[in-house]
Amino acid sequence: MADLIKRAAEDLSAAKMVTALTGAGVSVESGIPPFRGKGGLWEKYDPMEVAHIDSFMQNPEKVWNLLFKDMKAVLDKAAPNDCHKGLAKLEKLGILKTIITQNVDGLHQKAGSGDVIEFHGNMAWQRCMDCNKRYATSSINLNQIPPRCSCDGILRPDAVLFGEMIPPDALWRSRKVATDCDVMLVIGTSAIVQPAALIPIIAKESGAKVIEINPEPTPLTDDISDYLIRGIAGDVMRRILSQMEKML
Ligand code: NAD
Repeated sequence: MADLIKRAAEDLSAAKMVTALTGAGVSVESGIPPFRGKGGLWEKYDPMEVAHIDSFMQNPEKVWNLLFKDMKAVLDKAAPNDCHKGLAKLEKLGILKTIITQNVDGLHQKAGSGDVIEFHGNMAWQRCMDCNKRYATSSINLNQIPPRCSCDGILRPDAVLFGEMIPPDALWRSRKVATDCDVMLVIGTSAIVQPAALIPIIAKESGAKVIEINPEPTPLTDDISDYLIRGIAGDVMRRILSQMEKML
């Protein structure tokens, strides 16, 4: 792995514009389980049952009880790890321009990253399904499930559920930064959820190097990624940054 860490440090140092695409794996070291893979939430739940807009519309109480309540408890406690902090540092160094994240936990912003595209929205906010009023998730009271707005409308996370559209501005900007970058870091994503999984393909077809960081290979590994650094996100990011410091 040392060779690949060195190669990534060199590729990042030489790049003119770096974009990162992150997934649930970057937040595993912060105590947030991913969906897929070992220990993932899908071992406990059926995704279509708990995270599909149709299920929510049919029975919001059930979806709140099965998924959102647990997610709120986990997210309220989570803090950024070395991967979030390392990416924020790369931005401060002027190397990383934009993070496209599929995560809904807000941890990149908490770590200090300034340019974060939230491809799937953010669970840190809830909005009323009737009047659109927004509430910080940490401020809502779960004595009543589903929680309700002051107008009595049902609250839902300001995140994209299965069966819903990606916010058009997030989709448009993600395509643009994927097209413009010369290196894309793809960290902690199974690269299965569409259309997010197309972003590294757009980068590759536009001439960028694609560097994957993941303990497991993904559908991108053989044909799209230039190389895969097999490891956990925080550890790999810490080692890349320390290699870059040695090179300065
Ligand atoms: P995923 O759950 O499908 O896949 C997780 C990936 O992370 C796997 O490839 C796994 O091998 C890898 N991984 C696990 N531990 C890792 C670690 N320590 N370091 C690096 N990689 C690690 O995640 P996805 O591709 O992001 O897609 C699932 C959807 O789930 C996303 O759309 C996202 O919105 C949602 N989600 C978000 C969170 C969050 O906000 N933290 C948590 C769970 C799911």
